[in-house]
Amino acid sequence: MLNGQLKPGYNVQIGCENGFVVGYDIFPNPTDTRTLIPHLENMKTRLGKLPNEVIADAGYGSEENYAYLENEKVGATVKYTMWQKEQSRSWTKNVWNTDNWKYDDKTDVYECPAGKPLTYSHNSTHRTVTGYKQNLRIYTCHDCEGCEFRNQCTKAQGGKSIQRNEALTRLKDKARDRLASDEGKRLMRRRAFEDETVFGQLKANQGFRRFRLRGTEKVSVEWGLLVLGFNMRRLMRVGS
Ligand code: SF4
Repeated sequence: MLNGQLKPGYNVQIGCENGFVVGYDIFPNPTDTRTLIPHLENMKTRLGKLPNEVIADAGYGSEENYAYLENEKVGATVKYTMWQKEQSRSWTKNVWNTDNWKYDDKTDVYECPAGKPLTYSHNSTHRTVTGYKQNLRIYTCHDCEGCEFRNQCTKAQGGKSIQRNEALTRLKDKARDRLASDEGKRLMRRRAFEDETVFGQLKANQGFRRFRLRGTEKVSVEWGLLVLGFNMRRLMRVGS
């Protein structure tokens, strides 16, 4: 609570379809990224299959999640953290943003703002907190000595190095194309209607701000009763 107090907190994940809540899970995670796969696995167990398409906001767009959806042959309309920022002029015009540096896939060489090449140096691996292995290719500039931009560009003693994650680059390209498509835009608008309506109804209209119970199992029952009520209300509306 940033005041020395420790209070239990619960991260509620819901899956919606046609305005109904079709599944939910309660997590202790402070962020959403690591909830997507276990939530979908639970949905698969409960419903017998995964959805055809997952629509989710930027909190869910990790390499591991994209790869999971692709392997499971589930369509993904999922933003990633920097997606919104990438649309801005300040991002696309920032020459010190290495994502904007020219990359030639034929020669496998990057070019820095001073026009110097960054060539492949070595491979590196990184494990995320979930243990997911990311493969990185490291590129280094060997001509930084005396560069007039050095202070703006790097604090490294040797040459400037950057990393390239081939898998993530491909998955983000795919996500970007999907989000830019008419269908992707339509589904993103639908996402706002589907799950934001649930939280809006329960929190703003019904005044649900805190769980009355404690512990994941009890909280799961409490949330279950709330969404059951939401679904019944919705059923009465569409049926009337
Ligand atoms: S410091 Fe090196 S990588 Fe950065 S702009 Fe200068 S030459 Fe290029």
